[in-house]
Amino acid sequence: MPTEKFSETLQAINTIIKHEIIPLEPLLLTHQWDSLFPALDQIRATIKAQGLWAPNLPESVGGLSLTVTQLGEISEVTGQSPLGHYCFGCQAPDAGNAELLHLYANDFIKKNYLLPLAKGDFRSCFAMTEPHTAGSNPTLLDTTAKLVGDHWVINGRKWFTTAADGANFTIVMAVTEPDAPKHARASMIIVPLDTPGYKNLRNISVMGQEGSGYYSHSEVEFIDCKVPANHLIGDRGQGFKMAQQRLGPGRIQHCMRWIGIANRCFKLMCQHVNQRQITQHATLADQAIVQAKVAESYAAMNASRCLVMETAKIIDEQGFAAAKHHISMIKFECANMLQLLMDNTLQTMGALGMTDDTIVSFFYREERAARIYDGPDEVHKISLAKSLLKQYK
Ligand SMILES: Cc1cc2nc3c(=O)[nH]c(=O)nc-3n(C[C@H](O)[C@H](O)[C@H](O)COP(=O)(O)OP(=O)(O)OC[C@H]3O[C@@H](n4cnc5c(N)ncnc54)[C@H](O)[C@@H]3O)c2cc1C
Repeated sequence: MPTEKFSETLQAINTIIKHEIIPLEPLLLTHQWDSLFPALDQIRATIKAQGLWAPNLPESVGGLSLTVTQLGEISEVTGQSPLGHYCFGCQAPDAGNAELLHLYANDFIKKNYLLPLAKGDFRSCFAMTEPHTAGSNPTLLDTTAKLVGDHWVINGRKWFTTAADGANFTIVMAVTEPDAPKHARASMIIVPLDTPGYKNLRNISVMGQEGSGYYSHSEVEFIDCKVPANHLIGDRGQGFKMAQQRLGPGRIQHCMRWIGIANRCFKLMCQHVNQRQITQHATLADQAIVQAKVAESYAAMNASRCLVMETAKIIDEQGFAAAKHHISMIKFECANMLQLLMDNTLQTMGALGMTDDTIVSFFYREERAARIYDGPDEVHKISLAKSLLKQYK
């Protein structure tokens, strides 16, 4: 998108976030997901009418065809509210799933799953992690899919399938080639969630909340669950390769979303310490120890932003492979920055920070997981360090 048009677009998105989406947050903090629908549907319709829908997708499927850098900037703005990405149709896991289907799916899947997903008529989920195998090393997963006649028969159990509650379909990662090398054993298959043999066992209680609908994580099982052979995405055994692809652009979106959250926290922290009287003559903002928190938070947030923008620029100019180190680096750097910002904000707010009277505790509960999902800190640090150390052998 040309620079001038992009600036206007960013401005328009910021206005909607500030004036229409943030005011809905008290409802999110006190109600179940379903009760938000009428208001969210109305905002989504407005966003579509203004041509701002699905910034992550190409124009051919109703998106905005942006560069990775532009998408990152939008993600930062929409990330300021937990409802932002959903309202603009670029929420995980649907965004990554749609990007994946756009690249790899056959025409049948594109027509029946990608198009309704891209329009926001469907929701989806991604079922890879299993309770009984280490998600950090997904080559260990043991859910199977066997081709029997012209159907895949799937058996296994998954958990932390985000947003499975109320979704229309899942992409399941299953072993289809048990005798192949470990990175070529698994494939991705679409399973409509009304298929017999699929069951949502529970919404897992996470930090005291089971959640519902889009804001939930399910444990699910597949018992002799049969889907037609054409529900395979890409080629047999390509699952891990496609999973990497799915995480690439998604990483920039996640990191910039976290920077949006960090920025929101930072503003709340500054507003709070400026007005909180701690003695008759001084506010929290007058205390050097609080000033240090403000300064370190601001520096961490801006350092992360520079790093992510640099990563996006490398991807735009040289492709994903050239940004491999950066893509690992920003994952753990930004997730830790986010944790620091959320914690500094909550701490300076005292008891108020623990309540649901502000958005801070919601962010804290929902986003601590940033250091775990899409690969825990340790996995990315190991991978980056190994690659760097090789250069000095
Ligand atoms: C909120 C949330 C949402 C999620 N959404 C999804 C989803 O939609 N779909 C899906 O499939 N999965 C999802 N996941 C699962 C997530 O991808 C896994 O939790 C993650 O890959 C880690 O796997 P694990 O939990 O099995 O941890 P394990 O692999 O058991 O690792 C446990 C811990 O050990 C440490 N560790 C791991 N490897 C190493 C190592 N090599 N050396 C040293 N230390 C190590 C890390 O600290 C790690 O946190 C989600 C998880 C969360 C928390």
